[in-house]
Amino acid sequence: MPELPEVETIRRDLEVKIVGHRIKDLKILSVKTVALAPAVFYKNLIGQRISKVLRRAKLLIIRLEPSNKYLLVHLKMTGQLIYKVKNKLIVGGHSSGNYRSGGRNVDADDSKNLNDLPNKHTRVIFTFTNSSQLFFNDLRKFGYLKLVTELELEGIVRNSYGIEPLTKEFSLINFSQALKGKKTNIKAALLNQKNIAGLGNIYVDESLFAARINPKRRADSLKPGELKVLWLAITKIIKRAVEYRGTTFNNYVDSAGRQGNFFKLLKIYGRGGEKCPRCHNPIKKIKLAGRGTHYCPVCQL
Ligand SMILES: [Zn+2]
Repeated sequence: MPELPEVETIRRDLEVKIVGHRIKDLKILSVKTVALAPAVFYKNLIGQRISKVLRRAKLLIIRLEPSNKYLLVHLKMTGQLIYKVKNKLIVGGHSSGNYRSGGRNVDADDSKNLNDLPNKHTRVIFTFTNSSQLFFNDLRKFGYLKLVTELELEGIVRNSYGIEPLTKEFSLINFSQALKGKKTNIKAALLNQKNIAGLGNIYVDESLFAARINPKRRADSLKPGELKVLWLAITKIIKRAVEYRGTTFNNYVDSAGRQGNFFKLLKIYGRGGEKCPRCHNPIKKIKLAGRGTHYCPVCQL
């Protein structure tokens, strides 16, 4: 699943492409993908202008005017947003089908790919007044589109998401508070979006490695000094990952159709059996919090 850095990369790219565009037409090809009756969706979206593209954790938030409602987009496991303008395709999210070739921008003469849209994984199509289109594709159909009011959005954010790296709320005090009294292992505590929002498997493993903390440790056993080192590690790694446009994994590509570059900087994730870059003992891969977890049992204590 794309994590904070990948979704932020998509957000930044989409913002440049779609803000200011008015929705002329909408096609819902999969009723399951939208959280409302299609007729209500059509009525509320057609004619609206996109005024902002925001993000909270892994959720994309598209503000509509003049209704002041918000379209929420969650890519989940296999969701992908493809923006098509004239003869160019711009892909964001998980690559699939013909886009597997590495997330390049598809050339104008690549008619096979252009004619491929919509394809069998296309769930929703937005057509803007300038004739450009945004396709929501989703192989496994876990992703969703939802329409909410500002008040509902505030409720969702309040109930579902904790403090988020790269915001001013992500202070050492708030971070320590979010983990205080948590009896689960630290890996599960960091993955829980209600504690810390936006982190997923890759960046949790990398942050715990950087902080030399064993992912099996109980969250409430971390000492103040360890919390500080972990907090600094998360901040640094997430910042770096955004700069590198995220990590390419499972064919993830950003919304400019490029692969993320952070995979070059991964030290522990996906390296089970290899030597630890710090102490040269073998990296272990275990299942923890339901997720494949990579760590060094020698230098992560
Ligand atoms: Zn080690």
